[in-house]
Amino acid sequence: MTSSPTITPSSSVTAHQALEFLRIDDPLTIEAWRRSAQIIATGGYQNQVTFTTNIFIPLTRLCRNACSYCGYSRPSVPKGKEYLSPNEIQKIFDVAKYNSVSEVLITMGEKPESKHPAARRWLSEYGFESTIEYTYNVAEKALNCGLLAHVNAGTLTFDELSYLRKVTASMGLMLETISSRLTQKGMPHSISPDKHPERRMRTIINAGKLKIPFTSGILIGIGETFEEIVESLLALKNAHSRYGHLQEVIIQNFRPHEESIMANSAPPSLDLMEKIIILARHILPIEISIQIPPNLINGNESRFIKAGISDWGGISSITPDYINPSHSWPQISQLADIIEKQGYFLCERLPVYPRYINLEWLSPRIYNLITARKLKTKDGFRRR
Ligand code: SF4
Repeated sequence: MTSSPTITPSSSVTAHQALEFLRIDDPLTIEAWRRSAQIIATGGYQNQVTFTTNIFIPLTRLCRNACSYCGYSRPSVPKGKEYLSPNEIQKIFDVAKYNSVSEVLITMGEKPESKHPAARRWLSEYGFESTIEYTYNVAEKALNCGLLAHVNAGTLTFDELSYLRKVTASMGLMLETISSRLTQKGMPHSISPDKHPERRMRTIINAGKLKIPFTSGILIGIGETFEEIVESLLALKNAHSRYGHLQEVIIQNFRPHEESIMANSAPPSLDLMEKIIILARHILPIEISIQIPPNLINGNESRFIKAGISDWGGISSITPDYINPSHSWPQISQLADIIEKQGYFLCERLPVYPRYINLEWLSPRIYNLITARKLKTKDGFRRR
């Protein structure tokens, strides 16, 4: 039997202890770790669980990678629909403004123009040299509409990150896994050059050097081992310890998507997800919020709060989850009711966490928008 870690808010465990914990199935030991994780989370967040109101902009479904589990990208799209057009995007902004949304979540396949001639043609027709340049344009328009962009643009160079930083409140890139084994032939990342962990860690580290409030996370259930889960969490911890830029880490469960290669693969069990959340709360510094998407664990919200999560991420009452389209968002009021019964309360945040709302971490344009209070914030949180 493995021993439970010391119960203090700064508790941390060794890689060996972490691995032992993932391997055990003794309920009493798991319960001791769960209680410890809950105490750590409560020490850092009291009983607050955060979320953002967002609207989703799937800028393009074309991608140069082909991950076996992907439910987002399309091998081809109708001519002229390679990207959402500026007009389509403006309509989304108008709806976002009307609904008092704070976050515009911009997602895309990675650098589609390097693989799809149709993407290159579309960009050229609209006067853009690259997907990143179009992303900048969209994020800037969001800013002009009083909305804050959170951009998930895949792996980016230092210069691309620096460029997008000027018009974004925060950015994100899932590490998914530190395992290069999953890039080998027959594995889920074998034809996804951007899923090579070194490339992803480079982006995450460069974001830290540039002081970009950043979201990362791991994906569970795509063939990784327990060792690789622990190594992935430690890699994120180490990056944050150097730069302090990770505002949250998402622990995301793989869900099978029809038409993907892994359509018939089993998702990870909720028991395993709970253990990984517990473990993550022990490994990661307390200031990194741990998030699980609520639409992927529907009906089990209380269980994951007790395991140490403190954030639900973006929830949209307007647009679907384009990454997991068969899993609809919960109603915010229902989520509030569920967690209040457990003694917790919901709090709406911006895409940038309060501790990063300063000119060290934000461009002047983003900082000025937030501090002008047009987004109805107080102490960095939204107060409607
Ligand atoms: S998961 Fe992301 S990187 Fe992989 S194919 Fe889908 S959109 Fe592209």
